[in-house]
Amino acid sequence: MNQNLINHLIGIVGETNILHSGAEKERFTHIWKTDIPLEAIAVVFPTSTQEVSEIMKYCHSTQQEVIIHGGLTNLIGGTETQASQLVIALDKMNSIEEIDEQSRTITAQAGAILENLIDAAQEKQLLLPMSFGAKGSAQIGGVVSTNAGGLRVFRYGMTRQMVLGVEAVLPNGTIISSLKKIIKDNSGYDLKQLFIGSEGTLGIITKVILRLSEAPTSRSSAIVGIENYEQVIGLLKFLEKNLAGMLSGFELMWQSTYKAMTSENSHLIPPLSQEYPYYVFVESLGTKPAEDYSRLEDLIGQALETELIQDAVMAQSERELHSIWQIREDVSVLAAQANFDQHFDISIPIPLIGKMVDDAVLALEKLPFVSCVFPFGHVADGNIHFIIGKKENNAAIIKSINDVIYQPLKAVGGSVSAEHGIGLHKKEYLSFCRSEAEIELMKTLKNTFDPLHILNPRKILSIE
Ligand SMILES: Cc1cc2nc3c(=O)[nH]c(=O)nc-3n(C[C@H](O)[C@H](O)[C@H](O)COP(=O)(O)OP(=O)(O)OC[C@H]3O[C@@H](n4cnc5c(N)ncnc54)[C@H](O)[C@@H]3O)c2cc1C
Repeated sequence: MNQNLINHLIGIVGETNILHSGAEKERFTHIWKTDIPLEAIAVVFPTSTQEVSEIMKYCHSTQQEVIIHGGLTNLIGGTETQASQLVIALDKMNSIEEIDEQSRTITAQAGAILENLIDAAQEKQLLLPMSFGAKGSAQIGGVVSTNAGGLRVFRYGMTRQMVLGVEAVLPNGTIISSLKKIIKDNSGYDLKQLFIGSEGTLGIITKVILRLSEAPTSRSSAIVGIENYEQVIGLLKFLEKNLAGMLSGFELMWQSTYKAMTSENSHLIPPLSQEYPYYVFVESLGTKPAEDYSRLEDLIGQALETELIQDAVMAQSERELHSIWQIREDVSVLAAQANFDQHFDISIPIPLIGKMVDDAVLALEKLPFVSCVFPFGHVADGNIHFIIGKKENNAAIIKSINDVIYQPLKAVGGSVSAEHGIGLHKKEYLSFCRSEAEIELMKTLKNTFDPLHILNPRKILSIE
């Protein structure tokens, strides 16, 4: 059976685009880009949409389960694979086909690395405003299929807001091509939306067209120390109002996290003393460097005078700007020190964040196996992350921590996933933020697109 499959796949992609024996897996471990032990019948590397379609037609006819691999940077078990499953890896479909400067679009195959797209746009003075820690490995197909967020969602939106066109292959091999560069299109259902954020459960994305923006030419930043959460919201409103559309970053870090990031053992120097309960990283993007800097400086000065904030430092050079943002961008180093394997990226209505995080921290600190709690997040989007250190680890411990973080979300209309998705790890908690009727409709969609459940089966939803 497997030999038939492999022979068939070789017929479609050729000998050199498939790994199927143990020995080859050893030789090609670098391609997995992960240290998770991975079993699979084979890994196939199609080079065109047509090949993806042929593979899926065969898998459909033999009811072969398939797992799609992009850059493998997801944090939710989305690419976990079983020995009986086939992996389709998009690595070799990585070309950037076009940058259209007049339409301000970029067209790329799904396996293109996000950072390469950002750089290609930048060369034309255009901006692809997706920015997050994994951009050097994440593939655009993975980014679109997880509807990734990141540091500039507040100004530019989630990935969904940047996608103009998608080409995808359905589980039965049908190619659905919605590759248009137009912004407005109300001609019936917007089918591409179904492939964005559905984590590869409805189809394999093979090509995308993304909307670009004019690249800003000025970046001004400040770090601010604040005494209470009401002032954090006050500062957000004040800056939004007075910076017009230029405010592009408003990241919040709780004191425990700031202290850990700038401790004596860290290579990062604290730009502000460690005495404040909250630290906000502010960024504005514009087109007039000197004017934009003065504008932000003036507003921060006003906020200090009116005691909306307690302390602040403006980044006066590119180097200072980099070292301020490094405190926020490198926060994952804390995870490495914390026996950490649970990723939290919850959404909470903005006004409730302060109290809910305080309550969660108190509850977590009472758990004997919790060693540290580091909250931080994209507060302007209502999206908070936690790094929670553990002295020991087992399924019961994981569950009690999940319960502390996820249980309160039901009552306030929050979400268990602001950006990373559900995958396998958060499936149990989907009902905390989606109604029964919504989950039933999701299952109906899955059954319509993939009645045999061969594509990324059992991800997001539990259906057999
Ligand atoms: C250090 C770090 C920082 C991160 N920061 C953020 C952040 O700020 N915001 C954020 O949103 N995420 C973040 N992530 C998560 C991750 O980077 C994103 O989810 C990313 O979009 C996944 O892309 P990928 O190519 O690695 O996909 P993979 O991990 O390979 O796959 C993710 C899911 O998409 C499916 N998939 C992959 N390619 C395709 C395709 N072509 N068609 C259909 N389905 C496909 C997979 O089967 C899987 O279910 C971070 C991750 C790391 C490691």
